[in-house]
Amino acid sequence: MEQLQARLQELAAKLNETFTSLWERIDQSPRKKKLMLYYKVGREWSRIHIRRWTHLFHGAAAGNRAVGPITFILVSAALGSALTLTTLYSTSYAVVVDGEQVGVVADQSIVDHAIATVENQGSQLLGYDYQVEAQVDYEFGLTLKSDLNDEQTIRNYFYEQLNEVSDELRAYEVVVDGRAIGAVKDENSLSNMLDDLKDQYTTENTVKTEFVENLQVRNVYAVEDLMTTDEMRQALEANSTGETTYTVEKGDTFNAIAYANDMSVSDLKALNPGIDINRLMIGDVLNVKEQIPTLSVQTLDHEVYTQAIECPVETVEDSSMYKGDSKIITQGEEGEAQIEADVVYVNGYEQERTIISSTTLREPTTTVKAVGTKEKPKTASTGTYSWPTSSRRINSYFGGRYLYGYYDYHSGLDIHATYGEKIKAADGGTVTFAGWKGSYGYLVIITHDNGVQTYYAHNSSLLVSAGDKVYQGQAIAKAGSTGNSTGVHCHFEVRVRGTAVNPLNYLR
Ligand SMILES: [Zn+2]
Repeated sequence: MEQLQARLQELAAKLNETFTSLWERIDQSPRKKKLMLYYKVGREWSRIHIRRWTHLFHGAAAGNRAVGPITFILVSAALGSALTLTTLYSTSYAVVVDGEQVGVVADQSIVDHAIATVENQGSQLLGYDYQVEAQVDYEFGLTLKSDLNDEQTIRNYFYEQLNEVSDELRAYEVVVDGRAIGAVKDENSLSNMLDDLKDQYTTENTVKTEFVENLQVRNVYAVEDLMTTDEMRQALEANSTGETTYTVEKGDTFNAIAYANDMSVSDLKALNPGIDINRLMIGDVLNVKEQIPTLSVQTLDHEVYTQAIECPVETVEDSSMYKGDSKIITQGEEGEAQIEADVVYVNGYEQERTIISSTTLREPTTTVKAVGTKEKPKTASTGTYSWPTSSRRINSYFGGRYLYGYYDYHSGLDIHATYGEKIKAADGGTVTFAGWKGSYGYLVIITHDNGVQTYYAHNSSLLVSAGDKVYQGQAIAKAGSTGNSTGVHCHFEVRVRGTAVNPLNYLR
């Protein structure tokens, strides 16, 4: 009981002190009127209650009056109320930043801490020592504790300021598979550009479009080397496989270029659809690698289309035709099917096609093909071409070349030969020319069964005459240096429909 009384007296003294100091401050406060009201209510309440309790306790402690359980309960309840007063209300500071009230706090240190927190995070975010710029004033008051603002509210105010600063400094860095490409200022135009990259591969059949690489756009601040959106687009479309072309030099052949670039001749052909491999010229630019942009777009298209159904082929034997030869007797008509497929493209190139359904719209009709059964004569063409010389050393290649500083087109292959050596037919056929022909000197022309012609020039003498049937490997002439020739060799040509082509693509 004595303990209670002591606490109560302490409380009364403290309240009195608080009210006195409050009064002094209220008197100076611009919000005097409102605070006066709190003050009056508080003072009255305390005057009535505290005195009564003090009196009651004083009596009890002095033993003037016995304190019954009822009294004790009452006192305890009253004391509870007093504590409630201090529990409900708190002295407070209205926080005024640049003339605008942003909250009410119990302690100024809350504001200091909020500012320190925002400055710390701002500095981390922006990469330099960030300082909150604000004139902070406080107005003292008394506030229901439940109306006090916490630190977060004050922080939020300063975060907004930070946000305005960071908006100005924020840039958007594009990262592809973990590699930073660069940063741009304008988020909208970046986003539009990325959409545009995707859109160029999007068709009315596209059901899904995505980047192949992992693309991230992240906020960066105070970047020095900003890119324009166009520069970013160029960087993303730039080839990621390094040098992709090769310029043809003197002495190059299509085969050698393919070999040097670790690819097959057919792969090299596929990358250079516009190039005639038999007429490679110095200075021609060949694609030697596939172009793969830094950022690739993969699309999934759902396609419905019709496709031809091949004709089944029926063969009939024909004893009037040579073995290995065939002839179409009845050409069937292709059928038609409707195909439904999912097709995956990367940068517009098909990667994978999954047929979902195939419906036959029209059945094909049968093609009838006759195949020969008659034994071929020795002089029949085999369709393959063997070397006309014992040597395979090439003195001069087919195609464009510079001879004594002048451009010259070489229509054949100059193959090393020794004087008088036997020149052999590259394939079976009929000799259609054997004689002197200008700069060719003594020349043999063999016309093969498929119409291809082979030329053998600069011979010293001829062993066949026009009209002779010759077989593959048969000696047809002796090597020499007749006509326009700088030494003993065999000038060998292959002509398809009258046009000279590169013999190296035919010789086996
Ligand atoms: Zn020649």
